[in-house]
Amino acid sequence: MITLRRLRRATALCVLGAALAGCGTTEAGRQAPRPAPSAPAAPSPSRTPTLAPGPGGLTPVFEHGPRTDRDKAGAPDGKLVALTFDADMTADQGPRAAAGEHFDNPRLIATLRKLKVPATVFMTGRWAEEYPDEARSIGRDPRFEIANHSYSHYAYTDDCYGLPTVSEDRMRSDLERAYTAFEKAGVANPMPYFRFPGGCYDKAALKELAATGVTAVQWDVVSGDAFATDADAVTRQVLDGVRPGSVVVMHCTRSAAPVTEEVVRAVVPELRRQGYRFVKVSELIGAANTHR
Ligand SMILES: [Zn+2]
Repeated sequence: MITLRRLRRATALCVLGAALAGCGTTEAGRQAPRPAPSAPAAPSPSRTPTLAPGPGGLTPVFEHGPRTDRDKAGAPDGKLVALTFDADMTADQGPRAAAGEHFDNPRLIATLRKLKVPATVFMTGRWAEEYPDEARSIGRDPRFEIANHSYSHYAYTDDCYGLPTVSEDRMRSDLERAYTAFEKAGVANPMPYFRFPGGCYDKAALKELAATGVTAVQWDVVSGDAFATDADAVTRQVLDGVRPGSVVVMHCTRSAAPVTEEVVRAVVPELRRQGYRFVKVSELIGAANTHR
């Protein structure tokens, strides 16, 4: 549970920093103002941008970044967009993986590297257990960041696309078990961000996870890549949906999202042509904090 403790401390520092001076990085290589000098010397995770807790101390929910192409001083800063990839694997899918089903997508990761696209991977703990070398490789690449998509990919609400449900008293341990799996796989510094399986959450779930210090990360653009076979249709849906500050949800799972790599190859050059700059979720959250 060392990881979680570290995350909690990092978040506490960050909330303090956010209240005082804005929290985290606003763009690559440029740090937001540090917390007040009286704050303890901070290890690097403390610079991780997070949102302050929601009303009543609930887990905050992030859906998109600032809808602007300017930084807070009004200078041109480009239009930011974050591609996110869910590395889904449900706790009981081990036998299917053993039988040869591919829940990973190394070609997609290779394409992101080749195109120099920063990205955030929301990884289930079960996926990290199945593909520890890939998890470690993604985690060590500064172009990427790994965030938490639960251990089991069971839903945190009762009715969520037919997913099995994790009971309220198991929510925290399921989330923490994913961080433990990342640690075992050798992933250093996973982000304190959590994506609910299926994107399903309610107030009870937000309350239950509050003590972990995570920021819940949703999205505003559904790529529709899950079980899609028409790459052009998915590409169009992404290009139609993206606005400045958007968070796009896609998948990093060959068997359930076979056209995603092709979609990325089409979407990336077109969005760049339109003036978009790809960033990780952390940078988008940092930008959201500085634009307040
Ligand atoms: Zn998922």
